[in-house]
Amino acid sequence: MMTETPLNHIERPLPPWSHCAPKTQCGRARNDVAAIVSIAEFAASVKRDGQQRIAYTTCMTCWSATTSQAYEWDQEPNGTMMRYLTSARQDDKRMIQRELRALACLVDAYRDEFDALVIGLTAVRDIEDST
Ligand SMILES: [Zn+2]
Repeated sequence: MMTETPLNHIERPLPPWSHCAPKTQCGRARNDVAAIVSIAEFAASVKRDGQQRIAYTTCMTCWSATTSQAYEWDQEPNGTMMRYLTSARQDDKRMIQRELRALACLVDAYRDEFDALVIGLTAVRDIEDST
């Protein structure tokens, strides 16, 4: 008799300030699945063991979403935000509205620091682009 191993689901990246419940790439609540791995852990396991082997133990919906729109915050915040905004359910949409309003309040309270950070990050980007 073969024992069924629960499939690994892949964690959906969130913006660092998120208060929404963590989810898998396939849209399930993190607490609702037996096993979950980060995108980095998934990528490392594919590199180590090969796609064919990992395909037996990974949720295919998570796999597909990760390979087509794997946006980690650090590498691609625009993509993370796009997915965060477009895939939110109604409860999450209300939370995201609160988060965006809170971010706007913080920017308003610390406008000079915010502008300096944006200018600083622009300078870093210019240096990266010139190398
Ligand atoms: Zn999944």
